[in-house]
Amino acid sequence: MARIVMKFGGTSVGDSDRIKKVAHRIKTAVETGNEIAVVVSAMAGVTNQLVTHCHQMTCDQIWAGSSREYDVVVATGEQVITGLLALALQCLGLSARSWQGWQVPICTDGIHGSARIESIQSYKLLNEMTLGNVPVVAGFQGISPKESVTTLGRGGSDTSAVALAVALQADRCDIYTDVEGVYTADPRIVTKARKLDRIAYEEMLEMTSLGAKVLQTRSVEMAMKHRVVLRVLSSFTDAPGTFVCDEDEIVERHLLSGITYSRDDAKITLTKVADQPGIAAAVFGPLADANVNVDMIVQNISEDGKTTDLTFTVAKADLKRAVAVLQRGSALSFDRLIPDSDVVKISVIGVGMRSHAGVAQTMFRTLAERGINIQVISTSEIKISVLISEEYTELALRALHSAYGLDLS
Ligand code: ASP
Ligand code: MG
Repeated sequence: MARIVMKFGGTSVGDSDRIKKVAHRIKTAVETGNEIAVVVSAMAGVTNQLVTHCHQMTCDQIWAGSSREYDVVVATGEQVITGLLALALQCLGLSARSWQGWQVPICTDGIHGSARIESIQSYKLLNEMTLGNVPVVAGFQGISPKESVTTLGRGGSDTSAVALAVALQADRCDIYTDVEGVYTADPRIVTKARKLDRIAYEEMLEMTSLGAKVLQTRSVEMAMKHRVVLRVLSSFTDAPGTFVCDEDEIVERHLLSGITYSRDDAKITLTKVADQPGIAAAVFGPLADANVNVDMIVQNISEDGKTTDLTFTVAKADLKRAVAVLQRGSALSFDRLIPDSDVVKISVIGVGMRSHAGVAQTMFRTLAERGINIQVISTSEIKISVLISEEYTELALRALHSAYGLDLS
């Protein structure tokens, strides 16, 4: 017998039939003797619609996206599914009830639109579970110190599930989705991508923050911190999925675990910036003040000893704001500001990199052989990212996937 949190994503509860299938899956898990708590997200597409409705109510005085009422609206998608799934479970003879975030309660800070979970009171749910009842908890939602409904940011129901697994001291957190697990690359682009049986927390963290969309990054952070055994699997098949676990639990090691891409970045180049102390601070200080995150940075060597070119990336969504901030910056002098959003960031990730030389070289050589120019590079202990022109996304992913021997044979 195990205590398991089962989380179902938007496509898994995409219509009434799917919800009924999920109910059967939960019933089987209960009948096998497990204690189950369920976390659900909204039906696929519903949250997007709700967000659009909110943006239509934005005006000069009010930015809906971070308001109290935004959360009241967007949290409803999950509420609907908790009720429907509880009904479906009751029809199968199980004792189940719906729980909204505030009823548990899942306590968060007061940052509407991207709240963080601070604590979860688990005793009410635990009571239910020991009596054999199945709680169906709304993911994505919480309650603020002022007792307002909050939401955890897009994709946040993964984080709800992991947080609940921590609070309930569950043996495992199973995240049901529409793919069979975590792949070495996006299988829609790289047809030879392989499903991984296991992946280390650190690698998963890099994968999600560098573009893989299977899990919310914050959920992986939390799982890693609390050593929650996470499993990503499909609600459409019976395949065993991918375990996200400690590095030493992985017996068969490959040099790389995966290759990701992200089209969410944009590049800014400033030409002929004065090459003198304090310049980086003059560029990046105002950006930080305006809440613009800078990711990759390169500063070219100065040819004349007086000026240099500076290139860096920001989130595509922040590009306009970043340009405005830089053009306003009075302490800053440069010749031209060149924004470019036709870029993609490709990253290769693997803990094996710590002990192997030549990983970067394989990447650079492979891209060079295809005539793909690298614009910016950044590295960490277990990943290498390059920025290239967006038109080469598919070519680069497929070429790198074979170059590192990841192709399904
Ligand atoms: N329904 C929310 C969203 O679409 C939360 C989630 O699905 O994880 O972002
Ligand atoms: Mg999701």
